[in-house]
Amino acid sequence: MKRLIRWTLNSLPRPLLQRLAGALVPLLGLLYLGRGVECPVCGAKRRRFLPYGYVRSRSNALCPRCLSLERHRLLWLYLRSRPELLADRPRLLHIAPEVSLRKRLRKFYREVPERYVTADLESPLAELHFDVQRIPLEERYAGAVICNHILEHVADDRRALRELYRILRPGGWGILLSPVDPARAETFEDDSITDPGERTRLFGQYDHRRVYGRDYVERLRSAGFEAEEIDFAASLGGDARRRFALTDDLIYLVRKPVDGRP
Ligand SMILES: [Zn+2]
Repeated sequence: MKRLIRWTLNSLPRPLLQRLAGALVPLLGLLYLGRGVECPVCGAKRRRFLPYGYVRSRSNALCPRCLSLERHRLLWLYLRSRPELLADRPRLLHIAPEVSLRKRLRKFYREVPERYVTADLESPLAELHFDVQRIPLEERYAGAVICNHILEHVADDRRALRELYRILRPGGWGILLSPVDPARAETFEDDSITDPGERTRLFGQYDHRRVYGRDYVERLRSAGFEAEEIDFAASLGGDARRRFALTDDLIYLVRKPVDGRP
């Protein structure tokens, strides 16, 4: 099963994958009926989750009903634990929207659907299409932004961060998750490496431009944000971590200071 899923992820084009996943994954999920794990995003209970991963497959990762991964479940639990973040329905810009979270957030914004806006470089699932390094939106456009697993792909992540800062209103917040290697003190990037195999070996995935180290939070701050690194999974305790099949991803919450630079 692990090898089959890894092969599928690496062999099929992404648009086709996105369409297939919606139909096939729930079918595979029938093999996992049971009560060992629970998805906080969609409520599914299963024996365990499906394996998932482009390079190295992780077991117990993908929810067969809503396609949530560990970090999506963690983020949803985190948002639920901080209801004040979304209480007044700030205009939320969701970049590269994850299908599982998009569904829940749309529902949450059902009375003010125009305040939940999705964007992506090209995905047909998103309403706006742009490169995060050049966001075609005015200053202070959004009260909140969610942008996960994008910064490690873009050529100039500092520029992307400045753009995210610009379009947030003062006092607005963002969740900006990226893969961070806790064993590295400093972020590693080297644009001279172009061979896909070599990039996979060094950066973890052929289309990654860098591996963030423990200085990731400093990079967020250097764009002007106040930034917090939150080990939310640890605060939930072992039982919840097992039940929701979480990994040790951290939550990165940023805020644009009310009196910061514009
Ligand atoms: Zn689910």
